[in-house]
Amino acid sequence: MVPSRIGILGRGLVPADEPVLRGDDLGVLRGDGLFETMHLRGARPWLREAHLARLRAGAAAVDLPLPDDAALVELLDTVAAGWPPEVEGALRLVCTRGPEGGGPPTVYATLSAVPPAARQARRDGVRVATLSLGVPAEARPDLNWLPAGIKSTSYGASTAARRWAARAGVDDVLWVSSDGYVLEGPTSNVVWLAGDTLCAVPAGRTGILPGTTVGWLLAQADRVGCDPAERMITPAGLRDADGVWLTSSVRGLVAVLSLDGEPLRHSPRTRALQELLGYPVP
Ligand code: PLP
Repeated sequence: MVPSRIGILGRGLVPADEPVLRGDDLGVLRGDGLFETMHLRGARPWLREAHLARLRAGAAAVDLPLPDDAALVELLDTVAAGWPPEVEGALRLVCTRGPEGGGPPTVYATLSAVPPAARQARRDGVRVATLSLGVPAEARPDLNWLPAGIKSTSYGASTAARRWAARAGVDDVLWVSSDGYVLEGPTSNVVWLAGDTLCAVPAGRTGILPGTTVGWLLAQADRVGCDPAERMITPAGLRDADGVWLTSSVRGLVAVLSLDGEPLRHSPRTRALQELLGYPVP
């Protein structure tokens, strides 16, 4: 196993066991920060520009002053330098609001090998359960005080959902709105096939995270003979779909085998979609 790495803006690589954060960092105290996780392939972050653009949009939405892109790219390059190209990595860039009493944002990056479980999920697929999020599908973008679709370090709902999944004996969760629409997973977007149309949930309309992976996939759908579309869908609709997958930067694309215990239709396109995205399948 390749050892994990940590790099700090302005300091470069530090020993992985060296303290990085102050105890009064607002990222820790309030989850007041943003992050991005990129897939490192061939020792380079895939879709880096899309991740930096989403980080910048999130920073504008929460008034978080970010260093310029050149400084962020330099930090990412420093952490990735010399990483074995054959080892898939998860490269995380974290920007918090910094110390409680004021001061510059805390900016650092971590790099670790993609866990074997993520790679296995690409090969084996995942069993998923729906979980109510308790809000109507289109309510969040209407709240003009609450930034929607940002990748905040405040991941309490996500970790709670994952604990619930473990207790329920499933691999992952799909959040469903109070009016019955599928939204997203705690760390993934959902993609499905309706005939030759590759569909995803509209992020702007629902306030879900605009995923970099799903965005790229839909933009390239014609390369696997599909038309892209953004649609709303219910769990019953997913049961009728010709294939259902979860997408995220680290796992890539994984087939959803069952939803709430009911088997979903197996799609022969899983491998072609994974190849299109460039994720190795063990
Ligand atoms: N939705 C949520 C809530 C996420 O946390 C993530 C990734 O962690 C995604 C979707 C997928 O986004 P991406 O493809 O950019 O990794």
